[in-house]
Amino acid sequence: MSDPCLRDYQRIVFFTGAGMSAESGVPTYRGAGGIWKEYDYRRYACQSAFDRDPAAVWEFHNFRRGLVMRCDPNPGHQLIVRAEQQLPQVTIVTQNIDGLHARAGSHKIHELHGNLWRVRCDHCGVKQQDGPVQREQLRCPTCDGWWRPDIVWFEDYLDDAVVQAATAAIAGCDLFVSIGTSAVVYPAAYLPQHAADNGALCVEINPDPTPASELYSVHLRGPATAMLARLAAGVPELLG
Ligand code: NAD
Ligand code: ZN
Repeated sequence: MSDPCLRDYQRIVFFTGAGMSAESGVPTYRGAGGIWKEYDYRRYACQSAFDRDPAAVWEFHNFRRGLVMRCDPNPGHQLIVRAEQQLPQVTIVTQNIDGLHARAGSHKIHELHGNLWRVRCDHCGVKQQDGPVQREQLRCPTCDGWWRPDIVWFEDYLDDAVVQAATAAIAGCDLFVSIGTSAVVYPAAYLPQHAADNGALCVEINPDPTPASELYSVHLRGPATAMLARLAAGVPELLG
């Protein structure tokens, strides 16, 4: 079977994971060089760690921000931006917290696991984009609660409104393209099933098979940038 072409679909969802940003130089979680190999998440990425030692958690968080700050969106992110501009309906559902889809210029993005650059008050829940990074400023001016990163840590729940919006987009799409996710982090890993149930063509982009590979009828085994270019082959306005 020849590769499907993005131009032939009306409602496309790109479902992205850490592999989407790998070619930008952002470390993945689990693969070679994965971040949790080096850091114990129980010390740095859960609410109980934050309650115990907010300063240590902030230090780790700022380290992760630093890693991403040195990276730029890659040609795959940019191809998805053009797809949003040129095709009828394109939605991104991402597990990434790096903000690279938005930095590339995409607009319709559901961030399942939050955003590295946003903070929220631990006590009153108010959110702020580009919140404080200085330790002296880490308390909410409204209620004096701690600012915490507005990302989903281990043990945290996902934001209901974001999950609902993502589910609606996925359940209504006719082309579902998963890119660079190991498909083992729940509840995000449940979402692709909605696309399959609705009869969407499901495409998996990943250099390696994943526990979810069976759900997909097309497997593009290779890096995100090159495999996205295959889906846009013959459409110059998408290839840029
Ligand atoms: P993961 O690290 O578990 O898996 C990454 C997947 O990407 C692997 O299956 C790997 O084979 C694949 N991959 C590696 N290089 C690739 C490439 N060039 N092109 C395409 N695929 C490639 O990542 P995940 O499934 O997203 O894990 C979930 C958690 O990791 C999420 O909760 C997410 O919040 C978090 N995370 C986010 C970032 C980020 O924001 N960039 C980075 C690391 C982890
Ligand atoms: Zn507050």
